[in-house]
Amino acid sequence: MSVCDLKADWYRSPTPIIFRPYDGMMTVDPAKLRIEIYPTEILRTKAPEISASDEVRAVAERMVNLMEGAEGIGLAAPQVGLSWRLFVAHVPEHEGDPADSEYPCNTSKPQAFINPVIVESGGGLEPYDEGCLSLPGITGEVRRPSHVTMKALDLEGNEIELKASGLLARCWQHEIDHLDGVLILDKMSQTSRLKNRSRIKAMEKAKKR
Ligand SMILES: [Zn+2]
Repeated sequence: MSVCDLKADWYRSPTPIIFRPYDGMMTVDPAKLRIEIYPTEILRTKAPEISASDEVRAVAERMVNLMEGAEGIGLAAPQVGLSWRLFVAHVPEHEGDPADSEYPCNTSKPQAFINPVIVESGGGLEPYDEGCLSLPGITGEVRRPSHVTMKALDLEGNEIELKASGLLARCWQHEIDHLDGVLILDKMSQTSRLKNRSRIKAMEKAKKR
């Protein structure tokens, strides 16, 4: 396929979604992003840091659409095939346990974070049955600190520091794991591992065919 074919395909894209004016430097067509399913290699790849840009903002907006379409509460860039340190999350207000903490456990609208780092965590390890949009049909018990403080850049490139507890804190930790190529498969309890063993094997086999 030549470069011209690719270009033609771009214009023929059935659902051209342009969220913001392109800056002429776009290398990713947000409309073509799809949720990647295990065991694709990018889900196991540590992603490098990125900078805020029009392209990143357009991708983040597309990721929010994909996350909401799949009824998820978080989605990391490697899950849409991009090795970028970026994730989106939205734990709606009716979800998220009202944790006995002054930190929020949900948000009023979707959020996006660039180059996120957990700088503090605590409250003890809590077990919870987690799922993942890249692992359909699989849930497993994962223990994580019940509250965290995260530093990141927002979509405008401003440095931010936020605290979360409950499901929101769990979601952030799950998504940051994705940026390091870590999946719930690596962290789930032995019991959950056994429960999911045949399904995971089937997914790995299906990919090889
Ligand atoms: Zn996930």
